[in-house]
Amino acid sequence: MAKSPEVKLAVFGRAGVGKSALVVRFLTRRFIWEYDPTLESTYRHQANIDDEMVTMEILDTAGQEDIQQKEGHMRWGDGFILVYDITDRGSFEEVAPIRTLLEEVKKPKNVPLVLVANKSDLDHIRQVSTEEGERLASEMACAFYECSACADVSGGVSEAFHELCREVRRR
Ligand code: GDP
Ligand code: MG
Repeated sequence: MAKSPEVKLAVFGRAGVGKSALVVRFLTRRFIWEYDPTLESTYRHQANIDDEMVTMEILDTAGQEDIQQKEGHMRWGDGFILVYDITDRGSFEEVAPIRTLLEEVKKPKNVPLVLVANKSDLDHIRQVSTEEGERLASEMACAFYECSACADVSGGVSEAFHELCREVRRR
């Protein structure tokens, strides 16, 4: 039997945006309120995507790495989830520089990514509008998902991971 394809995904974004919560939500369909923010973990996960079994290796970065560590993670990954928190404008402003560094590290390949705006349940303290997120995604030519790791009603979290796998497999 043919070995199922393996896809390496890394999750990037400022500390506190909910990277770990999103990964845990995707893997377990549960939300964990407190997760060690300094922890970096990798997970293996198999999923059926468009009738094909895909094995994902998911790297949940801590978001506090120095530049050498960041570049190492970028070289490792095939596809990237860039996360910001809609209640933290600074986290949104950090996305474009991460993307620039990615392009540099992966040059001349163009880099499969998706943009995820997390914490959509906190709309009352929102600092970044949906339109701004959509605009940034279209500048980066990638898919955009606004979702919530803690109240993932529409399944947007796993849709983002699956879409990224498709994007990687298309290359
Ligand atoms: P990380 O540093 O990016 O891995 O962020 P964490 O996953 O550790 O989450 C940081 C904080 O945000 C924790 O207190 C989480 O409970 C909280 N959090 C994460 N995702 C959400 C979300 O979708 N909604 C809300 N309200 N809080 C969230
Ligand atoms: Mg974390």
